[in-house]
Amino acid sequence: MTVKSVGFIGLGAIGRPMAVHVAYAFDAVVWNRTLANAESFASRHGARVAQTPAELVSAVDAVITCLPTSAEVFEVVSTIGDAWRSGHLLIDATSGDPAGSRRTAAFLEERGVGFVDAPVSGGTSGAEAGTLTVMLGGNEPWVAMAREVAGCYAAKVEHVGPIGAAHALKAVNNALLAVNILAAGEGLAALVKLGVKADVALEIINASSGRSNVTENLFPERVTSRAWPRTFRLALLDKDVGVALQVLQDYGVPAAAIATTKEAFGKARKLLGEEADHVELVKMIEREAGVEIK
Ligand code: NDP
Repeated sequence: MTVKSVGFIGLGAIGRPMAVHVAYAFDAVVWNRTLANAESFASRHGARVAQTPAELVSAVDAVITCLPTSAEVFEVVSTIGDAWRSGHLLIDATSGDPAGSRRTAAFLEERGVGFVDAPVSGGTSGAEAGTLTVMLGGNEPWVAMAREVAGCYAAKVEHVGPIGAAHALKAVNNALLAVNILAAGEGLAALVKLGVKADVALEIINASSGRSNVTENLFPERVTSRAWPRTFRLALLDKDVGVALQVLQDYGVPAAAIATTKEAFGKARKLLGEEADHVELVKMIEREAGVEIK
């Protein structure tokens, strides 16, 4: 089936720039819990605003959700009721959890509606540029349909396995990001305390085997610069590490590194609040170590 119209639910930090590409490529309808955000989006980008999720679903071929967790996705999807029609597809761009995606998929399957988990990687800058990496979990023909839609905001779209597999992969990816933030923060705090300048330490690490996206990009751009931009909430990364930990435990895999990281992110979330950015975990390390990484 060729998709002509797409609905977008959840115009948050990453949903909004993704939806810009959707509005450019398809006949788009948007809904956001805070309706004013949907109205400002529509007036700038030429989409229609639905007053309710059910009104949105009635008007489109495929729906994208980009909400905090799988719990909000199920909450929204289940309130839509009879507006779902056989042949509809839900593409869930949330970084969700495999069990939550299977629950939503089962609810939709009873109505003849397809489900593909389609989390994204690449951050808000990748969303703005339309160069996200999209992982797809699901079955044909839905995966082909999801690929057609997600291509408008992605540089890479990969089918990785059955329903829930993409959410598991995304959670493991983000757990690796979190482990790196924690470990780099601790290591650099010690180096600065013993007299090594942070930019010198990063330069050497980035020419050596310990380098990562965290040391190459996030620390120079956000920590040593003291810029601390807010693009991806620490609370959401804490959620992702929790999803990864659950996946590891479900499959009987040792999880020491990810469990320790979950503990640190949970503590930072309590200390720094729901709006802090994910890299601000480093502020907690700095406070405990009594040093600034700069
Ligand atoms: P935000 O917190 O910025 O936005 C969340 C969105 O969900 C808002 O539109 C919010 O509406 C809506 N929402 C929250 N609760 C509900 C609810 N109960 N019912 C309906 N709508 C609700 O999150 P992000 O955009 O940053 O993240 C969205 C998803 O994408 C998350 O799963 C995140 O992990 C993932 N992600 C984020 C990235 C990033 O760089 N930010 C990168 C990759 C993935 P309202 O405007 O009313 O608050």
